Amino acid sequence: MKRWLIRLAIRILKQYSENAEPFDSDYLLRKLPMEVAVYDRDGKYIFVNEYYCPDEMLRRQLPGRDDYFYFSQIGAETGPLKKREENRQKALAEKRIVHFTEGIYLARTDKTRYYKRFAQPFADGAYVALFGSDLTAVVHAQKELKYLAYHDKLTGLFNRDAFNEQLDQVLMELERLPEKTTVALLFCDLDNFKLVNDSLGHDYGDRVLQEVSRRLRETLRKSDRIYRLGGDEFVVILKNLKNDYEAGLVAQKLIAAISQPYIINQTTINYLSASVGIVLMPQNGTNRELLIKKADTAMYLAKKQGKDGYRFYSDQISQTASRTMQLEKNLRELVVKGVFNEQMHIVYQPIFEKENDNHFRIAGGEALIRWKSPDSGMVPPSQFIPIAEKSNLIIPIGQWVLERSLYEYRNFYQITGNREFYLSVNLSTKQLHSNKLIGLIRELIETLDINPRMLQFELTETSYLEQDERVIRNLHALIDLGVRIAIDDFGSGYASMSYLQRVPATAIKIDRAFVNNLENNRQHREMIRSIIQLSKNLKLDIIAEGVEDVHQLQILDKYKCTKYQGFLFGRPVSYADFSKALSKNSSMEINLSVAAASALS
Ligand code: C2E
Ligand code: CA
Ligand code: CA
Repeated sequence: MKRWLIRLAIRILKQYSENAEPFDSDYLLRKLPMEVAVYDRDGKYIFVNEYYCPDEMLRRQLPGRDDYFYFSQIGAETGPLKKREENRQKALAEKRIVHFTEGIYLARTDKTRYYKRFAQPFADGAYVALFGSDLTAVVHAQKELKYLAYHDKLTGLFNRDAFNEQLDQVLMELERLPEKTTVALLFCDLDNFKLVNDSLGHDYGDRVLQEVSRRLRETLRKSDRIYRLGGDEFVVILKNLKNDYEAGLVAQKLIAAISQPYIINQTTINYLSASVGIVLMPQNGTNRELLIKKADTAMYLAKKQGKDGYRFYSDQISQTASRTMQLEKNLRELVVKGVFNEQMHIVYQPIFEKENDNHFRIAGGEALIRWKSPDSGMVPPSQFIPIAEKSNLIIPIGQWVLERSLYEYRNFYQITGNREFYLSVNLSTKQLHSNKLIGLIRELIETLDINPRMLQFELTETSYLEQDERVIRNLHALIDLGVRIAIDDFGSGYASMSYLQRVPATAIKIDRAFVNNLENNRQHREMIRSIIQLSKNLKLDIIAEGVEDVHQLQILDKYKCTKYQGFLFGRPVSYADFSKALSKNSSMEINLSVAAASALS
């Protein structure tokens, strides 16, 4: 080794040992990167290290003072000091190390720092040392993880995991509370949200969900918890309600807020609303899963009763729900066994047309399904069609209706000696989604040799609002087949009149609710008048549904309605009775002029 290098090393070592303080435990304690404070039995400081109190001036003042002095000097809240004192005493009394945690809030920085501490008695209890390591970063990381685990990314609301956990907590609290308090769970499902996604895309849908969350937060109190369970399902937990009535009021407010128009990216939608099911705790139970099921049932019923409303859960509801399940089971069995003809048949309601003055004749008939279940008896279509639609059973059932009614129509035709009249068949939107529909109809038309112009299909407005490509394609394919298409229940949904100009349709059927009210409701009269006017301009056929008395007919006739359907002209009747009516070349005399005087006075 070179001599000069050795010399250099010796010099460095010498310098180093001269500069360094002699190694002692005191030095180590002072510089230890961990808080150390040593107290006497009375809680006065004997020693604190630099980590505990970085400010040197203050550190020098501390011996002989207590925690309260130190905390007041650094501007820390003294809340945790009581616990600290207790733990020090405990360590002394029990002669052992005591572990605890501490959160110290510093007003100056408006931050809380967290510490893991332990108190250790020394010298036979003459003094006690307090050690502490900073946990703040760990606590923050934990909080963030917890936030991520319990919040919905899109909306920032609590998520399903948070909901499950917090509902359990609420239920536990309820069991402990002796006095009567009511907690309500509001299960909220958006109406028509699928339409938003389908027609405007998922990004737009996401923005709508964010806006919905914002409105929910704004409408509710800070203490109310809001959760997004996924999709367009939201839940609110309301604590400390004065009475049940209050929960209904909140539901109303929520629905009103959600129903306001949404203007996003210059596109406005105004058809979104919400249906809310409400369960009360503990009245409706204290089992989490059952409660959610009940709230869901109540929501489903709110939806079925025309959306845009709320329903409280009751055992009555649960009966309805179990009937729904029973019916779905029965329908499924029927479809699986394929025994349609045993349980189902089709009735026909005549559609009349005015020939002259008081003379009306049958122009067509609407096929309406009837079901007699061996378990449940006669079930009206208003009850089982929605169930069949929800479960997709409408596809095979609808296919049977098509086959059966077109077959019977061909027979009518032969019985009546080729009398011209048309058959109208209801199609559910679900059927329009099927890629087999057009093929099936085409095949039936060909094999039964039916003039497509004598066939009409009735679709509700929702079918037209579907932006699904296949639905649109099927609508146009129907028109290409040469059949007629009627918009059923017109006026009951969102369709505006201007939209009539754009859709593939050949007729509209004015909803029964409008005809019902004709005599007393001026607004309805005005609306029907303009619907008829516009339809005439667009060369659309107009059929008024649910005409029950001469007064209604008189008013409709004055507005130049062209076709009529309703109990006044005839109720739906069996195949045999309808055949008879047709072969008599059925027509009706209704004296309009008599009614005229009283109807419009
Ligand atoms: P819709 O298509 O609006 O059918 C007309 C309904 O009004 C029928 O009820 C009929 O009996 C009733 N109605 C007719 N005239 C009057 C009247 O003057 N006053 C009153 N109060 N009611 C009248 P129905 O047969 O119970 O059918 C109910 C609904 O079930 C139908 O409403 C339709 O939406 C659906 N539906 C019936 N059959 C079928 C079917 O084969 N396929 C599909 N997809 N839906 C069907
Ligand atoms: Ca119909
Ligand atoms: Ca209708």
